[in-house]
Amino acid sequence: MENIGLFPGSFDPFTKGHLDIVERSLGLFDKVIIAIGHNSKKVRYFDVDKMKSAIERHFEANDKISVIIYDELTANVAEKHNAKFLIRGLRNTTDFEYENSISQINRHLNDHLETIFLITSPQYAHINSSIIREVHRYGGDVMRFLPFIP
Ligand code: ADP
Repeated sequence: MENIGLFPGSFDPFTKGHLDIVERSLGLFDKVIIAIGHNSKKVRYFDVDKMKSAIERHFEANDKISVIIYDELTANVAEKHNAKFLIRGLRNTTDFEYENSISQINRHLNDHLETIFLITSPQYAHINSSIIREVHRYGGDVMRFLPFIP
């Protein structure tokens, strides 16, 4: 049976930190699904369809990776895609506090689901999507933090 890992996130935008987590996950799972959580009532900064296409283009040579957009419980999406693992990145204690709670709840919602945490590589630890959005909004150069233009 295949080991499938689901990497859920907002990816608004998808950063070099996210890329590092995906590349390292490829050594652990047969398939990695990058799942862009998008609440259709909320406004994103970077267009969700363009972000999906840009991520797909970046990984087009790798058939172990797929990209989806979802608007429902992450635990349900994992079940639908036969993913027994959620992949999350940890940068610091703030991430830990937040991730700890979500992983307990996801386990409660789907008791087959195990969350696997990858500690960020130090060179990407400062990369944060919400700060990138702010810098971009005011015309700053964010390309060094991103693997591709969304
Ligand atoms: P969310 O809104 O679900 O936190 P994000 O797109 O901000 O979505 O992040 C998705 C996942 O990637 C989270 O587990 C987050 O901690 C992790 N992550 C974000 N930035 C980095 C980074 N620079 N290095 C490693 N992991 C990261």
